[in-house]
Amino acid sequence: MAFRAVKGMNDVLSNDSPRWQRLERAFQRQARLYGYEEVRTPVVEHTDLFVRSIGEVTDVVEKEMYSFQHHRDALTLRPEGTAGATRAYVEHKVYARETVTRWYYLGPMFRAERPQRGRYRQFYQAGCEIYGDPGPVADAEMIDMLVGLFRQLGIGELQVAINSLGGSATRQRYREALTEYFTPQVGALSAHAQERLGKNPLRILDSKDPKDQAVAAGAPSMLDVLDDADREHFDGLKRALDALETPYVVEPRLVRGLDYYTRTSFEIRSEAGELGAQNTLAGGGRYDNMVEELGGPATPAIGFAMGLERILLAMPESAAADRAGCYIMPLGSAALPKALTIAREVRARGVRVECDGRGQSLKSQMRRADSLGMRACIVLGEDELSRGVVQLKDLEKHTQREVSFTEIAEQVRALCTVSAEAGGA
Ligand code: ATP
Ligand code: MG
Repeated sequence: MAFRAVKGMNDVLSNDSPRWQRLERAFQRQARLYGYEEVRTPVVEHTDLFVRSIGEVTDVVEKEMYSFQHHRDALTLRPEGTAGATRAYVEHKVYARETVTRWYYLGPMFRAERPQRGRYRQFYQAGCEIYGDPGPVADAEMIDMLVGLFRQLGIGELQVAINSLGGSATRQRYREALTEYFTPQVGALSAHAQERLGKNPLRILDSKDPKDQAVAAGAPSMLDVLDDADREHFDGLKRALDALETPYVVEPRLVRGLDYYTRTSFEIRSEAGELGAQNTLAGGGRYDNMVEELGGPATPAIGFAMGLERILLAMPESAAADRAGCYIMPLGSAALPKALTIAREVRARGVRVECDGRGQSLKSQMRRADSLGMRACIVLGEDELSRGVVQLKDLEKHTQREVSFTEIAEQVRALCTVSAEAGGA
């Protein structure tokens, strides 16, 4: 019986993993430059944690969670990273040790959605959280950090959308205004939206159904019901983004799919690459109530998550990688022991080495060295062995010279380092 991966869950094979690594390294570097430190939390959490934080009436909690019973525990594969990070922040009383905490994370998330381009059931997110800073300068810097990262990765046609959802009181007022607006038009809404009208009318604004979108387009604006403090916060965000010369558009109906957001919410999209409808690269916002709701002291917080698969779809293909590394070809079993020690010496100088131990012919070893994209190749036959030398081939320039055993490791390093520097890792 031939097995296949679970629907909506993908393998990343070695021809693809260099792009993943490049993206992950760029993210980690950018996060560290802005003062974030890594946290790793479990992939499985108690189901209630997600219900409490994400909100009962959301797509994620209503229909996208992978939940299961294990003995007495109701557990769920994490659909996002903020709930787990905040649980850890509260559980370990991190607030008692430092006034402001900046965390980043990277890892797989799980949502039972309909798989399509840019939307999978296991997907990777990288994200950042700041606890203890009420913003709005922190909010602007977080957005600016993301824009900077996407530009570094060569992603064009970026659009930053921002909105303010206000605090709890504002939210309640807005909920009432929305209910009043949608109720007379209830017949024009999708069945799902009709069901939500009584429970969580904000969700209708985030619906992807064109029927709902048409009605939602005329809905009252959240910005009209903000109180003075919310409005001052939002103005502060816009001033800081202006100071950073980060372009943005204000979208008064941007609510995003998770219920925990307060005040600032934002999305970064790109029209570049092969994204199609799934063009939101990153989304985030404040969740000033979550720490307290999960049992900690009242602590403001903001975070974002970005989907790595979507970013990879938007990232331009980089130029073909330069040749690097060294292939060692012992010809005949007598040459093998020396070949192995040379391989170790070259690796000790930081150069990737593959040494043939299978006794393949010169021709098939040459073919493999070429397919691996090696820069250098060392040939060691019986004649060379008796004279204490090897043949060093430069597979890019198609030259060859004889080098002594004592010099070979250094010579290979010189050759391979030059090509790595020119290529820019
Ligand atoms: P969307 O509106 O596209 O469903 P969302 O509101 O569910 O996004 P978040 O939960 O805020 O998004 O997740 C942040 C980012 O994670 C998204 O912008 C996207 O890049 C990525 N993402 C979310 N769901 C998926 C998925 N099923 N497959 C791949 N990436 C995803
Ligand atoms: Mg979604």
